[in-house]
Amino acid sequence: MKDTKHLTASAADMEEAGRLLREGELVAIPTETVYGLAANAFDEAAVAGIFEAKGRPQDNPLIVHIATLDTLLLLSDDIPEDAFRLADAFWPGPLTVIVPKSDRVPTVVSGGLPTVAVRMPSHQAAQAILQAAGVPLAAPSANRSGSPSPTTAARVAADLDGRVAAIVDGGECEVGVESTVVTLCTEVPRLLRPGGITREQLEEVLGTVEVDEAVTAPLKDDRKAASPGMKYKHYAPKAQVTILKGSAEAFREYVNAHAEDGTAALCFEGETDGLTVPYVTYGRRDDDAAQARQLFEALRTADDRGARVLYAACPRPIGVGLAVYNRLLRAAGFRVVTL
Ligand code: AMP
Ligand code: MG
Repeated sequence: MKDTKHLTASAADMEEAGRLLREGELVAIPTETVYGLAANAFDEAAVAGIFEAKGRPQDNPLIVHIATLDTLLLLSDDIPEDAFRLADAFWPGPLTVIVPKSDRVPTVVSGGLPTVAVRMPSHQAAQAILQAAGVPLAAPSANRSGSPSPTTAARVAADLDGRVAAIVDGGECEVGVESTVVTLCTEVPRLLRPGGITREQLEEVLGTVEVDEAVTAPLKDDRKAASPGMKYKHYAPKAQVTILKGSAEAFREYVNAHAEDGTAALCFEGETDGLTVPYVTYGRRDDDAAQARQLFEALRTADDRGARVLYAACPRPIGVGLAVYNRLLRAAGFRVVTL
């Protein structure tokens, strides 16, 4: 067990976080998407520690976080023109681009793939820590593998206290779901994971963007995952989640009819009247940004309250709602009931 330091976003603490990272330690850091578990991307032993601390499968690659565009040139010797267009439009921000990797990127970072995922976060503390560390930081979400991603430092601590050198508290994450992942290593740019930057926004810059079928469907056994993270059960609370597709009235009727001990509802704000089971809300039906911000915290709250069966109101898969739907589908193991 490590004696995990709890750091703030003060200048002195940013320096301390940077120092720890340079020395090969693991530090959980705030970003605008979710909290990340960071290590020096060029330090193989440090990166191996991320997999260990999270209990993450070795073939699930990490995203490398950078503070400035010139660092991208270290990570790839063959950067597609589209990467610069995307960087210009969306960096710093919640977009990850996949490009061919250079030899400097250790295999442990790319999960054995010839490509590397890169993102420039906009969160001020993330920027400050990257500057202080002076190296690119490999960082997946700062949860134990399989659990909902943490959007507060307290949730990070619940999963990783004693397993990492430090946790930096930078407040609640603004976006709340992980970054959009787009690969530029296919003929047509391909969306592998929806997130804070929407498909519509990407298409404004790139023209056509294909959406990987794994975004809204379970991977077929014979198909290799384009994004290895997509094949694992993911973002799941302890409660068994079922998504209910339909109106607020149909949702209420179904849940009340199926109410048993341990049943709870995950529903939209303003649609809780008449529910006979405990509930947690995650934004209004028409507010995809609020749903994204609140989803993971709501799933963890349902667990805290001892929910065993959780019926979730289905988000509209448009805009950031596509990311919310994608995460909830995985949390539910693709169990969906159309009402
Ligand atoms: P996390 O940071 O925990 O949200 O996980 C990173 C996500 O990015 C996972 O879904 C990975 O599969 C995906 N990813 C990272 N690197 C690559 C890559 N080189 N090719 C495809 N997907 C990647
Ligand atoms: Mg993750």
